[in-house]
Amino acid sequence: MAEAYPWQASLWQQLAGRTQHAHAYLLHGPQGIGKRALAERLMALLLCQRPEALQACGQCKSCMLLKAGSHPDNYVLEPEEADKPIKVDQVRELVSFVVQTAQLGGRKVILIEPVEAMNINAANALLKSLEEPSGNTVLLLVSHQPSRLLPTIKSRCQQQACPLPGQAQSEAWLASALPDSDEAERLELLSLAAGSPLLAVRLQAQGVREQRAQVVEGVKKLLKQQQSPTQLAEGWNSIPLLLLFDWFCDWSNLILRYQLTRDEEGLGLSDMRKVVQYLAQKSPQGKVLEIQDWILAQRQKVLGKANLNRVLLLEALLASWAMLPGQR
Ligand SMILES: [Zn+2]
Repeated sequence: MAEAYPWQASLWQQLAGRTQHAHAYLLHGPQGIGKRALAERLMALLLCQRPEALQACGQCKSCMLLKAGSHPDNYVLEPEEADKPIKVDQVRELVSFVVQTAQLGGRKVILIEPVEAMNINAANALLKSLEEPSGNTVLLLVSHQPSRLLPTIKSRCQQQACPLPGQAQSEAWLASALPDSDEAERLELLSLAAGSPLLAVRLQAQGVREQRAQVVEGVKKLLKQQQSPTQLAEGWNSIPLLLLFDWFCDWSNLILRYQLTRDEEGLGLSDMRKVVQYLAQKSPQGKVLEIQDWILAQRQKVLGKANLNRVLLLEALLASWAMLPGQR
């Protein structure tokens, strides 16, 4: 069964304790806080034939079938490959599932994650199922970026924001999830994951601290003109593009903040503090704003899964970054 996260306890009571369920829920919040696990627990509960104390029993026919992955009345719709769109054909298959009668005589439950992976055609195909609820069916839509969804999709769901854990809760949970890590490492991971503990674990597994060290080293060499944008862009080919854009976006924010406040407490993670401070002192604010606008626009394209030439994009980023210090 999916893990129950302590920071979801009150939301769970509220959702699971309902006597009547919405036809569709939109569970939204940042990535890496356990929305999928929450949706899976709710799915199990809604399908369970003998729920006890707001939990699926784990033993009835429905729970057994769900565990075996062969429940006839549940449907999970997600991209066929990670980070790819959900195709309109996949949604059409789902739509034909929606009109069927539940085989175990209870509810049918559909989980879609992430909803924003549907393009406009796929989303429109889904709308019909949202507009004409069929029998005892509950749709659980999971979204990391609800702002990207069609308003017509959102308006047909009961929207439910999923909470982020507090700092102490995150740290405690992460300490048990990564028993071999030390506290400094966990704090750094949490910071890199913007406070999302599950994302912190995922980032740790992909070697994010090593990647970060490589990028920070590269940026320093770039500014000392010891490495070219092309060399760096090619050397970073295993680092997720979104992560790179997040970091540069973060650094541009920190530079601007320091230019405004001169507050040394607000210079971010220790690995880049000196560089951020140096760039804040040497770069005209207009240039920093310009590069930040550009980074934000490119980041949107990366999020939108646009077909981008990764090396060219990074070269462009690094070439402008190298030009930051100095007069216009
Ligand atoms: Zn059960």
